[in-house]
Amino acid sequence: MEGRNFIDGRWREGATPFETINPSDLDEAVGHYTKAGIADVEEAMDAARRSQPGWAAFNMQARADFLHRVGELLVAQSRDIGTLLAREEGKTLAEGIGETLRAAQCFHFYAGEVVRPQGQWYNSMREGHNVLVTREPVGVVAAITPWNFPIALPSWKVAGALAYGNSVVLKPSTFVPGCAVKLAAILEEAGLPGGVFNLVMGDGRAAGNVMIDAADALTFTGGTETGRVVLKRAAETMTKCQLELGGKNPLVVLDDADLELAVEIAANGAWIQTGQRCTGTERFIVTRGIHDAFVERLEKAAKSYRVGHALDADTQIGPVANLPQFNANLEFVKNAQVEGAELAAGGIALEARTRGYYMAPTLLVGTRNEWACNQQESFGPIASVVMVEDLDEAIAAANGCDYKLTAGIATTNLKSAERFRKGSQAGMVMVNTPTAGLEYHVPLGARAPSGYGPRETGSASAEFFTESKTSYINHGAA
Ligand code: NDP
Repeated sequence: MEGRNFIDGRWREGATPFETINPSDLDEAVGHYTKAGIADVEEAMDAARRSQPGWAAFNMQARADFLHRVGELLVAQSRDIGTLLAREEGKTLAEGIGETLRAAQCFHFYAGEVVRPQGQWYNSMREGHNVLVTREPVGVVAAITPWNFPIALPSWKVAGALAYGNSVVLKPSTFVPGCAVKLAAILEEAGLPGGVFNLVMGDGRAAGNVMIDAADALTFTGGTETGRVVLKRAAETMTKCQLELGGKNPLVVLDDADLELAVEIAANGAWIQTGQRCTGTERFIVTRGIHDAFVERLEKAAKSYRVGHALDADTQIGPVANLPQFNANLEFVKNAQVEGAELAAGGIALEARTRGYYMAPTLLVGTRNEWACNQQESFGPIASVVMVEDLDEAIAAANGCDYKLTAGIATTNLKSAERFRKGSQAGMVMVNTPTAGLEYHVPLGARAPSGYGPRETGSASAEFFTESKTSYINHGAA
C-alpha cells in the first residue's frame, strides 16, 4: 500500500521515504510511506490547535453519529484492514480481523460516551450560592502508539479523545503505520472536519518531541524506557500524561487449581499473538504440589502450536513482528540459559514455507524469581516457571518484580483468589482467566513503572481526556 501523512484534512508526502516488510515473508514489501518532517509535525499540531474549539462546539448528537459511522466503516473494512495488519505486524488473519472489530467496538462505545451525562451540582456552604463541577475537553491530544496493536490501540485513543471534544495528532509505530493510514482514511470518509484528526509518521524522538511540546495532553503506549524519556520531556511543558508501559506479568498456579484450565490459560497468556501483548504472561509461579504435572502439560502445549505464515489458514501463532524484537528474543533465551534456566520447549528460530521471523513458543523451567529472565520484559513468546511453597510466597514472588501491569491466579479456592486479588500490586488482576485479554468498557492501566497517570478506556477515559472545572455561583437568596 501507499501511505501518506494526513495533516489539516489533506494527504501529504513527508520528507523521508520508508517501507515496511512482511515479517512472515521477508521478500515481500507491504507498505511505502514517507516520514513527516519537523515542519509537517508542527503544522499538524497547529491544525489540531485551530480546529479544536470548533469540534468541541460540534452538536453532541452529530459527534456521536460521526463516531458511530467510523465504527461501521471499520466493521465493513475489517477483512481488508485485518489482512493488512496480518501482513505488516504478523498476527494471524483471524487475530487481525478480530483486532479491527475491537477497534470498531471502541468507536461504538465512545459514540455512546458522547451523550453520557457529565457534571455535578452541589449545594453551597454559603447562602444563595451553589457549586457546579463540569468537564471540558483537555484540548489538543498527542497520541503515540507501539507496534503490537496497530489498529485497536490508535482507535481507542483517537475515539476517546474525539468523544470528549479534543483534536488529535496520532503518531503510530514506524514498524506498522499501515492500519493508522487506513484509520485516517476512514475518519476522512466519515466526514471529520479538517485538522481535528492528523496522522504523522515520523521518528519517535524527533516527531514525539514536537508533539509533546505543543500538545495539552499526551496518551502514550510503549516501552518503559521510552516512557521515562517522554515523561521527562513532558515535564518541561507540564503536558498532561497518560503512559501505558511494559509488563512482566505473573500467573500464579496453586496446588488446588483445575489443571486443565490452568494449562489452557497459561498457554494462551504466554504464546498467543506470539507473546507480543503487554498483558501476556511471562512468569509462571507454581506451588510445589502441582509443579511437575503443570510443567509437563504446559511443555506439551508449547510444542503443539503451529507457527507459520500469518495468512495461512492453519497457523495458530504468527511470526515475531520485526527483526530487533526477533533478535532480542533469541538473545533473551540465551542469557536465561547462562543464568541457569533449563529450556523445556522452544528457544529457537523456526523455518516455515517463507523466510520470516518465526520463533518456537518457549518455556524456561527451574528459574528463580530474582533472575533477570524473571525481572526483564521479553515481549516475545517466552515464559519461565518459578516454583514456590505456598500462596504467601507466590504473592511475594508475583509482586517481587518492578513491573505491575497484570497478574493472574489459577485456583479453585475463593479465599486464595481473594487474598491474591487484594495482595497483588498489579493494575489488573485475573482469576482463572489469562493475564491478557482486556475489555474496552472498563479502566486499563497499571502502577509505575508499567503505567503512569490516569487510566485508559471505559469509565476512566473522562479523567484523562477532560479537565474538570469547579464553578461557585452566587444566584442570590431565593
Ligand atoms: P517503543 O517504546 O519503542 O515505541 C513506542 C512508540 O513511541 C513508537 O511510536 C515510537 O516511535 C515512539 N517513540 C520512540 N521514542 C520516542 C521518544 N523519545 N518520544 C516520543 N515517542 C517515541 O515501544 P514498541 O513499539 O517497541 O512497543 C513495545 C512496548 O510497548 C513493550 O514494552 C510493551 O510492553 C509496551 N506496550 C504496553 C502496553 C500497555 O498497555 N501497557 C500495550 C502495548 C505495548 P518509532 O516507532 O518511530 O520508534
